[in-house]
Amino acid sequence: MLDIVPRISSEDVSALPAAERLAYLRRAIDGSIIFTHGFGIEGQLIFHWICEGNIDIDVVTFDTGRLFPETYQLWAETERRYGRRIRAIYPNGAALERLVAKQGIDGIYESKQARLACCDVRKTRPLDRALAGAAAWITGLRADQNSNRRDAGLVGFDASRGLLKFNPLFDWTRDAVLAEARRHDVPINALHAKGFVSIGCAPCTRALRPGEPERSGRWWWEQDGSRECGLHLPKRAAG
Ligand code: SF4
Repeated sequence: MLDIVPRISSEDVSALPAAERLAYLRRAIDGSIIFTHGFGIEGQLIFHWICEGNIDIDVVTFDTGRLFPETYQLWAETERRYGRRIRAIYPNGAALERLVAKQGIDGIYESKQARLACCDVRKTRPLDRALAGAAAWITGLRADQNSNRRDAGLVGFDASRGLLKFNPLFDWTRDAVLAEARRHDVPINALHAKGFVSIGCAPCTRALRPGEPERSGRWWWEQDGSRECGLHLPKRAAG
């Protein structure tokens, strides 16, 4: 396990502007730092700061194969705007073929187990590959997105992966993120103007109705409140 725990804490960075938190992290950590970008507004703002500050952080995204056309358009627009490629990570081809052969292309609606199997092949296993050997992982998590995320902190430690987890927007509200993105003319997903708030894969994301919580549009057909894809849960043993 990498010796990174004592080098940085939430207290070290909480008083810093979020953009400077990223530079602080880069100075404090020797090994590779991975930012997993999902093209949400938070991620777009973090990517903006990484590019503007020319900070040595590896930016990756998971192309599940089921993203909205608008997300692919935003991906291309973002690369043009910043003149930088965002490294795409794909599901293992054989595992994806086995998944679709077993449960069908839209088997995700049949059971929670089937949905989680899809997230595992298309997102979680690629995440494990992306983070292998990294010293730190940057995410766009915010505390007020849902109850699962409230304890993440600005700086955490993912014991299952043995790396530092850094959430530079943890203490920001969605409105503050949006205002800052607008201030810097950061491109955002065209679906936000159509009522989509948290945007993931197309079959698993819908627009919100007025007053609904931020992540209600994700896996909306599932009844329990712990709806996550697994990216922010402890790593499972290989199997
Ligand atoms: S969000 Fe939906 S389509 Fe995307 S990986 Fe998870 S179950 Fe599959």
